[in-house]
Amino acid sequence: MKLLSVIVPCYNEEENIRDFYDELFKNDPFFKEKEIEVELLYVDDGSKDKTVEEVKKLHSQDERVHLISFSRNFGKEAAIYAGLQKAKGDMAVLMDADLQDPPSLLPEMYGYIEQGYDSVATRRVTRKGEPPVRSFFARMFYRLMNKISKTEIVDGARDYRLMTRQVVDAILGMSEYNRFTKGIFGWVGYETKWLEYENIERKKGETKWSFWKLFVYSLEGITAFSTVPLTVAAVMGALFCILAFCLILFTIVKTLIFGDPTSGWPSMICIILLVSGVQLFCLGIVGQYLSKTYMEVKKRPIYLIKEDI
Ligand code: UDP
Ligand code: MG
Repeated sequence: MKLLSVIVPCYNEEENIRDFYDELFKNDPFFKEKEIEVELLYVDDGSKDKTVEEVKKLHSQDERVHLISFSRNFGKEAAIYAGLQKAKGDMAVLMDADLQDPPSLLPEMYGYIEQGYDSVATRRVTRKGEPPVRSFFARMFYRLMNKISKTEIVDGARDYRLMTRQVVDAILGMSEYNRFTKGIFGWVGYETKWLEYENIERKKGETKWSFWKLFVYSLEGITAFSTVPLTVAAVMGALFCILAFCLILFTIVKTLIFGDPTSGWPSMICIILLVSGVQLFCLGIVGQYLSKTYMEVKKRPIYLIKEDI
């Protein structure tokens, strides 16, 4: 018998807990055929609704269901990390509670693991049902990210991924505080098979990601997997120095030839504003990295557990 750990981060998903369970175990004949035992780990990320009660109800009916409950909302990344740490399986799969990651894909995914792949990842090829503005910024983010980072980050990649023990251990080895899972998956490498499917809209409840949350998350991704912004800051500084030097020479020569009529105050103000703006911007970039380093150095736990059933 092989053990498969199914890790499901949940934040206010009371309506989806039961549906997910039903949908997952529709694969029971397949699990039986392949002699796969399943442990289903719901990681409750400090939900304020009845998520925990729903999971406990399931746990009392089926001992394959487990609950890890956080002391507060730590974010999906923390939930994934906790799930992977608790998983005992020879394989682990990450799935969203809202059924946007169809459990019916599992047999196909497992097929590739049998063929020798270390991990099977999924990406959605469409962004159907998503606000166009969000899709636009998402595309821009992936394009930028892949230019400035050596780690491959796939556009439309979901966190829905089946991994062998080896890959799970590799991910657990990356115990950083600022976790950007999409980057971490790319960073650890291993033989990965990509499956594609059309975007499926959330069944019940609503998305937990506001535009602002996604924006902050994207900055997290950039600082975690690229230091190019720091180089940009330095290069910009150098360019402005060269420009200033040329202007000084020009002004001296001009003054020597034509005398010194006092003019140019408006342009000077503009230049001062521009340059101080650039300075603050670069300082901000440095500040981003400094703040991430600060959080990292503190070595705070990534999550705190309230209940572990
Ligand atoms: N989630 C979580 N903690 C959070 C936000 C989300 O554990 O702070 C979970 C959520 O319950 C769901 C998954 O992460 O199972 C994906 O969230 P959601 O469906 O809201 O994101 P979207 O699919 O809209 O990107
Ligand atoms: Mg979703």
